[in-house]
Amino acid sequence: MDKTSHKQSVLIVDDEPVNARILVELLCPNYAVRVAVNGVGALRVARSEIPPDLILLDIVMPGMDGYEVCRELKADPFTQDIPVIFITAKDSEQDQIKGFDIGAVDYITKPFSPVVVEARVKTHVELKIKSELLKNLSFSDGLTGIANRRRFDEYMAYAWNFSARESLPLSLIMIDIDHFKLFNDNYGHLAGDACLVQVSQTLTNSIKRKTDMAARYGGEEFGCILPHTSSDGALALANNLSDNLQSLSIPHVRSGTCGWVTISQGVATVVPSKNTRPDTLIKVADEALYQAKSEGRNRIICLAPDI
Ligand code: GH3
Ligand code: MG
Ligand code: MG
Repeated sequence: MDKTSHKQSVLIVDDEPVNARILVELLCPNYAVRVAVNGVGALRVARSEIPPDLILLDIVMPGMDGYEVCRELKADPFTQDIPVIFITAKDSEQDQIKGFDIGAVDYITKPFSPVVVEARVKTHVELKIKSELLKNLSFSDGLTGIANRRRFDEYMAYAWNFSARESLPLSLIMIDIDHFKLFNDNYGHLAGDACLVQVSQTLTNSIKRKTDMAARYGGEEFGCILPHTSSDGALALANNLSDNLQSLSIPHVRSGTCGWVTISQGVATVVPSKNTRPDTLIKVADEALYQAKSEGRNRIICLAPDI
């Protein structure tokens, strides 16, 4: 599918080609439509790089039925927010109750009215876009546009559990701008805000993997969560970040450290376990940051948590 397409994407799941074709013809003018002819195909499209914005799901299919597909979609954090509309010949009240119970947003019985299908698809696609917008807003920092503290906490919990399950290292870099109070005092708060934006952009440009996440932790402090990353990898990224910021050479004449804006960084790495909590990692990265400050700022300190 064309990545630049502005049409919302709908997935039609039906084992009966004639049924699928009617729906394709109905929705094609307004949506980017994909078709799956069984449950396995439906899950594959739903978990693909471009997931659908809505799924029209038949119930009676050979192999995995629609109920089972819906249950799997709702159990997977990656697909659970995709609205599912059952479109089926099963028209008893019991069937409909079951459909709503397992997480469908709507239920359309066959034979269907094309106008009703179009209207309900439109409603649920619009609702999906609005709720996504709200979610993104509630997870991003108003000044810099990068992830906020709420998103940081949520992603850290997710990364912690995932890394514990797979016995993979998880690294955290805590970053703090040096002498930022003096920067504000000297250049004013608006210049301070612009500086925070520049630092967050440098941070975003410095992280390479899709699974890395940079967030504004608070004030002039940032956090960078690096799943599946050893302490060597995290240190390399921290060094890159310092270099990239240095190449911007943002003047800071009152910084006692040097004439430009610099950062101090604390790096900590751990292989999480189920009975430990992310706080341990945050605490150690904070200690490392504190040490970087007290040893003269504009430097990186790595510490290993004792867990
Ligand atoms: P250190 O090198 O020890 O980190 O010194 P510092 O001056 O950076 O640290 P301190 O914690 O004393 O001061 C942080 C400053 O960050 C003070 C506060 O005014 C500024 N700050 C926090 N949030 C914002 C913001 O959103 N915009 C601006 N312009 N400044 C902010
Ligand atoms: Mg500071
Ligand atoms: Mg600070």
